[in-house]
Amino acid sequence: MLGCCDSIPSFIRTIAPYLPGKPVSELAREMGLNPQHIVKLASNENPSGPSPKALEAIQAALPEITRYPDGNAFDLKAALHKRFSIPTESILLGNGSNEILEMIAQVFLRPGDEAIYSQHAFAVYPLAVQARGATGIEVPAKNYGHDLEGMLTAITQHTKVIFVANPNNPTGTWHTHEAIEAFLHSVPSRIIVVLDEAYEEYLNDTQRSPSLHWYERFPNLIITRTFSKAYGLAGLRVGYGVMHPEIAGWINRIRIPFNVSLLAQIAAIAALDDEVYLTHSRKLNQEGYAQLTQGIIGLSRTLIPSFGNFFCVEVGDAKAVNQGLLHQGIIVRPVANYGLPNHLRVSVGTHDENQRFLDALKVALQ
Ligand SMILES: *Cc1c(COP(=O)(O)O)cnc(C)c1O
Repeated sequence: MLGCCDSIPSFIRTIAPYLPGKPVSELAREMGLNPQHIVKLASNENPSGPSPKALEAIQAALPEITRYPDGNAFDLKAALHKRFSIPTESILLGNGSNEILEMIAQVFLRPGDEAIYSQHAFAVYPLAVQARGATGIEVPAKNYGHDLEGMLTAITQHTKVIFVANPNNPTGTWHTHEAIEAFLHSVPSRIIVVLDEAYEEYLNDTQRSPSLHWYERFPNLIITRTFSKAYGLAGLRVGYGVMHPEIAGWINRIRIPFNVSLLAQIAAIAALDDEVYLTHSRKLNQEGYAQLTQGIIGLSRTLIPSFGNFFCVEVGDAKAVNQGLLHQGIIVRPVANYGLPNHLRVSVGTHDENQRFLDALKVALQ
């Protein structure tokens, strides 16, 4: 090992790198497949392609990319204010909501501090916690979802941050906003609660979360949302956090000056305004989820009921089944690193992609 790396602290050395979904180009190279014939259902991306309004806005803005973006993202914050009636001082923008999670960890966690999250929760939480030398406390899941009672019980004097993913990725489990609200009432106000709502837009009207306005009652609450999933802009990297203005002010001090790119800001503004696309995305997801559920039942397999644009299906030897799928040009996500060695996580695709997956799964299970 390089001598200059000796001083890297052990909490960095022991980090297991994040395992992203396999890129289409990589599988095409490995298997000698035509990329056009590969189906990627591995990263919970929107299968509809980007919103036409977003595409148009990006095309019009292309000549401007010689300039730095607006570091304070005035127009995007104004658009979020218009859409959700949240004051712009409460909004923090990130290079994906992932960066917001990282910034929260950077500001609130030190060695000796504890952060609580659930078993089978989003892999970025343990990564962000460990990178600050803080201690992650993983609370055993209940029916694959967050055991909110158990998470309250895990609070100690060292607890600084609690991460809650609702719906959760990769299990797709979800708690009603009444349950989340009761949980928030029980958490001491000195502890930051991060409510990660990356899939909120996929919930139906009766399930939608009123959480964007909760920070007034719960000043220790940070909501994170993203343009990567239902808004279809994963490749551009843009997400937002909503929180008490004082917290936004502190976190803004460590934010990289131009963390959200010019095209990302412009596309996000256009996507926010594209109700047709959002409604279509939600509908396509509902239909695809029903199609996939039916198909899985037909193969005598079970899945964990999901509230997102993905689900985990029980397949036995997931490693072997995943290989079988890859050979047929289908990319899904193994979730052994999430403590689910017998499941594969599958993102809901278009009707044709879903059918290709089901046909391939049938073969891979034999
Ligand atoms: C996808 C995802 C995110 C982050 O996505 P970004 O692309 O970084 O905005 C955050 N939380 C959960 C639970 C996710 O699944």
